Amino acid sequence: MTRAALRIQVSTSDAGAVHDLGETLHAFETFVRRAPFAAALVDADYRLAAVSVDWTAHGLTPDLQVGDDFRRALVNPEDLASLERCVEQGDAFARYRAVGQGAPGSESRIWRTEFAAARGEDGTTLAVIVTARDVSGYAETALRAERDQQRLKMALELDDLMVREVDLRTGEVYCSGTSPELEKWCVYKNDPLDIVHPDDRDKMAELMRARKDGHAQVFEFRLNRDDGVETWVRSVGKKFLGADGKPERLVNLFKDITDRRRQTEAVENLAFKDPLTGLPNRAYFNRKFQEAVDASEMMGELFGLIMIDVDHFKDINDTLGHDAGDALLKRLADMLHAAFRAGDTVARLGGDEFAVILRGLHSEADMMRPVGALQDLLRRPIEHGGRSFSVSASIGAALHGDPDADPTHMIKNADIALYRAKDEGRNRSVVFDPSMRSALEQRVELLRDVRAAIAAREFVLYYQPVVDIGSHAVVGFEALMRWDHPEQGVLTPDRFMAAFEDQDLSLKLGDMAFETALRQMREWLDHGVEFGRVAVNISAAQFRSGRLAQEVHERLARWNVPHERLTIEVTENVYMGWGSETVSETVRQLHQAGVMIALDDFGTGYASLANLRQFPIDRLKIDKSFVQNQEDAAIVKAVITLGSSMGMKVVAEGVEDHLQLQTLAGYGCDQIQGYHFSRPMPAGMVPGFLEGFGR
Ligand code: C2E
Ligand code: CA
Ligand code: CA
Repeated sequence: MTRAALRIQVSTSDAGAVHDLGETLHAFETFVRRAPFAAALVDADYRLAAVSVDWTAHGLTPDLQVGDDFRRALVNPEDLASLERCVEQGDAFARYRAVGQGAPGSESRIWRTEFAAARGEDGTTLAVIVTARDVSGYAETALRAERDQQRLKMALELDDLMVREVDLRTGEVYCSGTSPELEKWCVYKNDPLDIVHPDDRDKMAELMRARKDGHAQVFEFRLNRDDGVETWVRSVGKKFLGADGKPERLVNLFKDITDRRRQTEAVENLAFKDPLTGLPNRAYFNRKFQEAVDASEMMGELFGLIMIDVDHFKDINDTLGHDAGDALLKRLADMLHAAFRAGDTVARLGGDEFAVILRGLHSEADMMRPVGALQDLLRRPIEHGGRSFSVSASIGAALHGDPDADPTHMIKNADIALYRAKDEGRNRSVVFDPSMRSALEQRVELLRDVRAAIAAREFVLYYQPVVDIGSHAVVGFEALMRWDHPEQGVLTPDRFMAAFEDQDLSLKLGDMAFETALRQMREWLDHGVEFGRVAVNISAAQFRSGRLAQEVHERLARWNVPHERLTIEVTENVYMGWGSETVSETVRQLHQAGVMIALDDFGTGYASLANLRQFPIDRLKIDKSFVQNQEDAAIVKAVITLGSSMGMKVVAEGVEDHLQLQTLAGYGCDQIQGYHFSRPMPAGMVPGFLEGFGR
C-alpha cells in the first residue's frame, strides 16, 4: 500500500501535470508530512525538506532538522551511493535495505528504506521521497530460513548425504548432495526398487508396502551396482502431504553406510560368531530363541529345540590332541549345516555343545527327521592328520506345542532330554517327555538333602582293608563314604553319587572326608592301632582350586599325621580331564612330600598308561569290573605285568573269593582289596579287625 501511494505521486510528477517547481515541491512536502507512514522528502541538494509524523515517531533521523544535509544520516556508504544515484541519474526507484536505529531504548530494528526520485519534465530530479518500512519480523524469518538452509547444507556436506525430492504432481526430481557415488543412484525415475540390490528387494518391497504417508521411514539396503561393489545405503524417506491432504512431495535422504555396515558386521561377528566353527554363538542363539518364543506366543507357531553334545569329547581332546578336537568340531558344524534346513538356527553354545532352533514345524516328525540325518552323517568316520576316528553324539530334543506351556522351559526340557540320552548310554536322541522332569527334580531334591545331611553330620567314613599278598599283612585301609541316614540306614555312595558330581557338594564332602580320616588316624596313632596307610578318594573338583597340596600339608600338620600315613586315590578321568596341569602339579608336590598316589579304577577310562607316565603313580588299582569278569583275565594279567614293569604296585579291587585271590597272586598282583577279606567297616571295628587278622 505504501509503495502504491508513492508510485501515484511520482507518476503524477512524471506526467508533468505540475509545472511550477516550488509548487511541486510544496505538494510533495504536504504529501510527505501527511503520509500515514514513515516518509521523508529530500531535495536535489540533499537537504531534508519534510518528514512524516511516523518518521519522527520512529526516530529515524533523530539528529536531523528540516534543512539539514540528509546524507549525514546515511552511515552506510551503499545507501549513500543509492541516494546519489537517485538524485543524479534519476533512477526512478533505488531501493536499499538499511539498518536503522529505532527510538532510544527500543530494540534495534531492521528498516527497509526506499528512495524514489520525483523528476521534472526535463528528467532532472526534483526531490527524492524516502520511505521506510519496519521489516524486522520479515527479515528475521528470512534470516532464520537462510540459516536453516545453510545448516542443512553443512550437514549434508559433513555427512555425505544425498537429498532426493520428487514433486509427486509433476514428477519432477531434484537431487543434491555431495556424494558423487550416490548421486548416480539418486536420480532413478520410476521404480525405487531399481536401485536396490536384487537380494534386498523383497525386504524393501515389504517395508514400502507397510509405509504410511506422512510418516518417516528408514531403509537399509545394498545398491544394485553393475560393478559388483557392495555399497550399503541408509535412506530415510517421507511423503509430505499438500493442503488437499494428498501426497505432494516425497523427500528421501540417502547416506552411504558401507563403512559402518562393515564395522557393525565385524563387531557382530565378534559378538555373535564362534570363531572356530563360524557358527552363531550362545548370545546369538539366545536372541533367536527369544524370537522363536515371541513367534510362538503371538502366532501359536510350533517350534523345536535340539541340544547336541559330542560323546566323550574330552577324551578325544585329551588323547588325540586339541587339533583333532577342533577338526571334529568343525566337521560337526558342517554336518549340522547339511542335516538341518537353511532357516534353522544352528549354534555352538560352547565346548562340544551345540543347539538348533527349528521354527515353523508341523509335527515332532518334522523335528526328528533332520536329527536322523545328522546321526547318519555322524556314522561316517572323521579323518584327521592321516588318522580316522569315529564320533557319536547325544541329542536331546524338545517341542513347544502346548500354547499354555511356558516356552522358556524349552531349554531346560531339551537339556533334560539330553541328560537322559547320555544316561541311557549316549549315541542316541531322546525327545523330552514331562515324566523326565521328575527324574531331574529327584536329583535336585537329593542335592538338597545331602546339603542338609552334611550340616547334620550324617556322613561318616567306613574303612576297607588292603592286604599285601606276599606278606599277608594289612598294609592300609581305603576310606569310603557312607551316609548314616536317620530313616534309611547306612547308604553307599551309589545312592548319592550325584553329590560327588556337583561342584560345590563334592568339595564339601571331600573336605569332610579328609578331616574325618585325619582325626581317625590321629586317634589310631594315639592308641597304637597299626593301620598302615589310609587312602582317601579325591574328586576332580578338589583339584580345581590349585591349593589342594597346600591344604593337605596344612591339615596333616594340624593333626600331626605324617605324610607317609596318607594315600590319595585319583581316577584317570581326573588326570585326563580339565586342568590336568594343575592336577599333575598338585600330585607331584604331594608325592614329593611322601603321600602315596594311587591310580583308581584303572581300565574304565580312556587313558593309556603311556599317557599317565607324566604323573607320579605308586599304586595302580585295577577296577573290580575286570577282576570279577573272568573274560578279562588277559587284560588283568597285562595290566599287572605293565604296572610292575613301570615300578608301580598293583592293587586288585573287588576280590570276593579265594579263587580270584589265587589267580591274581599267580599273575603277580601285589595287593588285594575286597569282600574276601572284609567289607568296608565303621572305624570302631578296625582295631578288632586288625587284631583278628592273620590269626
Ligand atoms: P571306589 O573308589 O572304586 O571304591 C571301591 C568300591 O568298591 C567301594 O564302593 C567298595 O565298597 C567296593 N568294593 C570293595 N570290595 C568289593 C567287593 O569285593 N565286591 C564289590 N562288589 N564291591 C567291593 P563304595 O564304598 O560303594 O564306593 C563307591 C565309590 O564311591 C567309590 O569307588 C568312590 O569312587 C566313591 N567314593 C566313596 N567314598 C568317597 C569319598 O570319600 N570321596 C570321593 N570323591 N569318592 C568316594
Ligand atoms: Ca577308591
Ligand atoms: Ca576303584
